[in-house]
Amino acid sequence: MKLNELTITDASKKLASGEITSVQLTQACLDAIAARNTELNAYLEVFDDALAQAAAADARRKAGENHPLLGTPLAIKDNILIEGRRASAASKMLENYVATYDATVIKKLKEAGAVFLGRTNMDEFAMGGSNENSAFGAVKNPHDSSRVPGGSSGGSAAAVAAHLCLGALGTDTGGSVREPAAFCGVVGMKPTYGGISRSGIMAMAASLNQCGVLAKTAEDAELLFNTIAGLDALDSQTFDAGVYPKRAAQKKIGVPRALLAQGIDADVLERFEASLKKFQSQGYTLVDVDIPSAPLALAAYYIIMPAEASTDLARYDGVRYGLSLKAGDLVGDYAATRGAGFGQEVRRRIMLGTYVLSSGYYDAYYAKALAARAQLRAEYAKALTGVDVIAMPTTTSPAPKLGEKSEPLAMYLLDIFTVTANITGNPALSVPMGTVEREGKQLPVGLQFTAAHGDETGLFAAAKSL
Ligand code: GLN
Repeated sequence: MKLNELTITDASKKLASGEITSVQLTQACLDAIAARNTELNAYLEVFDDALAQAAAADARRKAGENHPLLGTPLAIKDNILIEGRRASAASKMLENYVATYDATVIKKLKEAGAVFLGRTNMDEFAMGGSNENSAFGAVKNPHDSSRVPGGSSGGSAAAVAAHLCLGALGTDTGGSVREPAAFCGVVGMKPTYGGISRSGIMAMAASLNQCGVLAKTAEDAELLFNTIAGLDALDSQTFDAGVYPKRAAQKKIGVPRALLAQGIDADVLERFEASLKKFQSQGYTLVDVDIPSAPLALAAYYIIMPAEASTDLARYDGVRYGLSLKAGDLVGDYAATRGAGFGQEVRRRIMLGTYVLSSGYYDAYYAKALAARAQLRAEYAKALTGVDVIAMPTTTSPAPKLGEKSEPLAMYLLDIFTVTANITGNPALSVPMGTVEREGKQLPVGLQFTAAHGDETGLFAAAKSL
């Protein structure tokens, strides 16, 4: 086995015992990147100091330090700030923007001694479910390069799946960590809203957006999560451990049977049922749960998300950040900069968001979406009282072909099962549940668990038993 194919947990043991060094491990990842990144386009930039970071980690270990992530090479999504490094959100607007400070998650990873290999490709400003909205070219799925890796954290998911890193950070506003994790056959997790600090992560839809982790195993994902989670004075939505009551494991899995009739491919459903059987053989009981308002989630998401994006992205005005074009007067400067800097999907969402927030339409759309949100949150809380987690397929199908979902509504439907956890703020995770065959290729599919607020322990426990 090549070193870059190790899990974080296994590499960590070998680093601790002195069997390998971080320089060797990092070099193995750099070799894999050199071999495959031209084809996959997963990294937008590979950092020139990765080996120097690894050497520094090895020196820290020699001096007696021993964090499980010390010397672990990771990939970072291009909307997370690393001081002195470019962070473009895969947008022309920020193509040459250099971060002036570290995101809190980066600060924590630096303290732990992780190595940053580079920044990964994504849908522009994290808007998309296929990674085709990047201003710097699509990412290819490592299992079949005629297919998308999912999005918007497609670069991070493809990098983990192709062993171009040991783990990665992404962001998840409506499924952007879990959906690409499912399509690439890796584990992807988004925490309870407020579980991980968003300081230094580009805002896209502030009430939905969370940083998430991608890894090869649930154990690795849990280690990454535990390292970066927690209260942060720089993000007022973060909370202290203990805010949510501890839940005792009940060994019960909730299955929303009514939702499984929603156009899921037959072989994906078969994989799901087979996974449920595995749980039963481990002593879990399956309980039918009902989320009557679940069919409203996607519509509510595509009102709330553009509404918030239209305000969050108002800061890109050609004065404060990034691209700055001149057109004679101030309003002309705004129009020229935003017209040239933002891609088509970003402009579509800004227009949609501005529309649903405008007087006259605010009550008809935005206020109703917020009402649906409150209802969904209550229904999830109720459904979760009697079970440890709720299980669903992460997506209705395996990864689509490049170009297959070019029509916006078809693209939005990719998120039908993932957006709910962002609307309700629950923690959720996608774990591989095997593969299905398409055109002679084996394509991974994922199983999504959703847990009660603050119950990441229960979430990871379910994932680890699968
Ligand atoms: N695909 C969804 C969207 O386009 C989710 C994006 C995300 O989670 N960042 O909004």
